[in-house]
Amino acid sequence: MTIFVTGGAGYIGTHVILELLEQGYAVVAADNFVNSKPSAVARIKQHSGIDFSFYEMDIRDSGRLNEIFTAHCIDCVVHLAGLKAVGESVEQPLGYYANNLDSTISLLSAMRAHEINKIVFSSSATVYSGNNEMPLTEESRIGDCINPYGWTKFMCEQILTDCARIGDGCAVALLRYFNPIGAHESGLFGEDPRDTPNNLMPFIAQTAMGKFSHLNIYGGDYETPDGTGIRDYIHVVDLALGHVAAIHYLCKHPGVSTFNLGTGRGVSVLELVTAFEQSTGISISKKIIARRPGDLAICVADVEKAKRELSWESKKSLHDACTDTWRWQSTNPNGYDS
Ligand code: NAD
Ligand code: UDP
Repeated sequence: MTIFVTGGAGYIGTHVILELLEQGYAVVAADNFVNSKPSAVARIKQHSGIDFSFYEMDIRDSGRLNEIFTAHCIDCVVHLAGLKAVGESVEQPLGYYANNLDSTISLLSAMRAHEINKIVFSSSATVYSGNNEMPLTEESRIGDCINPYGWTKFMCEQILTDCARIGDGCAVALLRYFNPIGAHESGLFGEDPRDTPNNLMPFIAQTAMGKFSHLNIYGGDYETPDGTGIRDYIHVVDLALGHVAAIHYLCKHPGVSTFNLGTGRGVSVLELVTAFEQSTGISISKKIIARRPGDLAICVADVEKAKRELSWESKKSLHDACTDTWRWQSTNPNGYDS
């Protein structure tokens, strides 16, 4: 089977491609490097020992997509390309809507023209409304997103759902990721933020490297056992394996299927910091400051549906995620430029 991976040079894309190659899939990938580097692709080829076709291109370029779909016989698409910085999406909403929606629309149009009818889409827990009971099931309310990034995921889910209704035998998997962390255990692949990291784990790792004097903890007065926010942190390799499971599933299940990809376990900010300290032996200076606007107290997945229907569940521990993050960060202080 040949899988077309968009956003293949990114944090999740590199891990998805590694797992696909490992399991014998043929891969064709594309990325415009707006948030990634060509060296990530070179590393995949070197580490796996497998060459695959890679296209530097914007997924909005439908002419190029048509050329690729003519040159390769694609069985399924994994659509990861997208802009993902929440704060930036508030400052540049049009750029986010244009990139994330237009790329999905041109991809679906080209797929339709070439009769490719299976797609796995990277959605997010941000599509859920803020006032749901925890844990979140796939039936929890969606919408009322608190930023343009979340709305782009919500709208793409709707576009994919509408297209599946008209396409005979179309199969769509909407994967709602919780909080991906960690890195490949080889130490060669991981998250490589362009600027100051927005997310907790890369900020902890860069603080451990001495790039920042301390970690700011956004809020110590939430209604949680230690007062800090609780999230569902999933190892990126487990997440990547969830995509492989979704591809299997789509071969037998037409229509639209939605799955939470998380661990089902809630971990507070302080617990994650402690886990990192215990796994690495490095202590992290921290200060509790005001809450970050828009943050929920708790966001945890109910993962029963993915376990039941995809026969998939996360296997790696928080300790694995911390150890793998530190191996990547400490041996690649400048990310893929190292
Ligand atoms: P990433 O930024 O590392 O990877 C996304 C890749 O898409 C980048 O390499 C970027 O250069 C590329 N890209 C963006 N727009 C493009 C375009 N128009 N054409 C071609 N390439 C384009 O992000 P990631 O963490 O790997 O996330 C992958 C997907 O998963 C994204 O859609 C993101 O929104 C989604 N997601 C990520 C998280 C997370 O916490 N990392 C959580 C939920 C959902
Ligand atoms: N957080 C924090 N300091 C940081 C970054 C994040 O205290 O520098 C907290 C944030 O308030 C949330 C959790 O860590 O409770 C996870 O945040 P992240 O941005 O990684 O993911 P989110 O769940 O917001 O998408």
